[in-house]
Amino acid sequence: MIAKTKCIPDGKKHLKELPILHYLDAEYLYYPVTSARCPEGETCVMGGQFVKVGEVIGTRKGAFFEQPMHATVSGEVVGYENHVDQSGKVVNCLIVKNDKKYEFHESIIDRTDEEIEALTKEEYVEIVKEAGLVGLGGSAFPSYIKLDSKDPIDVVIANGVECEPNLISDYGLMMTSPEMVIRGLMYAMKASGAKRGVIAIKKRYTELYERLSFKLKEFPNENIEVITVGNYYPQGWELAMIKKALNISIPQGELLSKYGVLNFNVSTLASIYMAVKKRLPVLERFITFSGDGIHNKTFRARIGTLMTDLIELAGGYVDEDKPKVLILGGPMMGTNINRDDIVMTHTTTSLIVMNEEVLKEEPCVRCASCVYSCPVQIQPVQIMNAYKVRDKDALKMLEVSKCIECGLCSYVCPSKIHLTEYMRSGKRFASK
Ligand code: SF4
Ligand code: SF4
Repeated sequence: MIAKTKCIPDGKKHLKELPILHYLDAEYLYYPVTSARCPEGETCVMGGQFVKVGEVIGTRKGAFFEQPMHATVSGEVVGYENHVDQSGKVVNCLIVKNDKKYEFHESIIDRTDEEIEALTKEEYVEIVKEAGLVGLGGSAFPSYIKLDSKDPIDVVIANGVECEPNLISDYGLMMTSPEMVIRGLMYAMKASGAKRGVIAIKKRYTELYERLSFKLKEFPNENIEVITVGNYYPQGWELAMIKKALNISIPQGELLSKYGVLNFNVSTLASIYMAVKKRLPVLERFITFSGDGIHNKTFRARIGTLMTDLIELAGGYVDEDKPKVLILGGPMMGTNINRDDIVMTHTTTSLIVMNEEVLKEEPCVRCASCVYSCPVQIQPVQIMNAYKVRDKDALKMLEVSKCIECGLCSYVCPSKIHLTEYMRSGKRFASK
């Protein structure tokens, strides 16, 4: 039987009710010198040096951009150590011993409203660049490049859909700090020249709709509205979200800006607010622990915090004697990891720990569920077969590059085949 689906249990209800614990007491903070987008990097501080919150401590280097690294606590530089980053890779990290005084660097001074009013587009772009801001929805794409679009922009859309199960980081931010999102959106509109702003959220979040709409009443001169979109998956994928919220169809692979649209994740917009108003880089993120293998908790913690500190604080693992499956990110698009000394980076939002063992793959029964469920209309089962025999021409013909790694094909497969892993590998292989 064909199991076509885009409705999946979102598993967020009990997570949304958890109190948010603000954790500032990490003894040591760890800053990866490289990242998935920046394979090279260097630090600019020495052992024994005292650093302050917001101070530049190094630079990560990507193919076409550089990203400054910032200290998120004050304290002493004490060396380097290897840990795991958001992508599951082992990376070299600079260590800062936290003095717990949280002393700000001299450059961290609020801008006045008048100063902000006078900012030019070029100045906005430079501020965002210097703060090292990247897409916090998971893309980690440099925000200043998006903001620097040369195309005329009609609308900036704040993506607060967060459609993947178990993720509540953006939800938590919008509920606790809606003004930061709104002001970040206003700044992005001003920088890009857009006359319209839209905040897109899931239809079922009526309490969030009320919260944002109520806050927007304090900004009567801004052309910003909240639009609700479907509850299904992957509604947060930018092309699906834009189609639903703005009724604009943008073909895959085309720049949104060519259609007059800029899309930022809501957490990214809040970080733009902090950079413009406070001259601060991203200091903290929400992180949620979920799954039956760990005590479920939500924290707000500094970038650079080691996950093992937070796991201990949460009360540790449940059923410690049972084998665990660890997923960094959501259950659909997250990364399986095999160690828990993970460093919180800009894009860390969730750790799922499950007691179940990984289900063994069975042979394909040719049910076609994966094909019918794929939101970009490619054929996962055929792509898997092409990858198994390393047929690059077939992979290209089957348009493996269109895969957005949403995980739906793996989810619906009755044989529990890890199709998304084949898609990832196939994409890498075809692009070599
Ligand atoms: S992971 Fe890729 S192939 Fe699988 S359903 Fe999503 S887009 Fe389609
Ligand atoms: S890979 Fe899985 S979902 Fe796709 S046709 Fe085979 S059994 Fe069905």
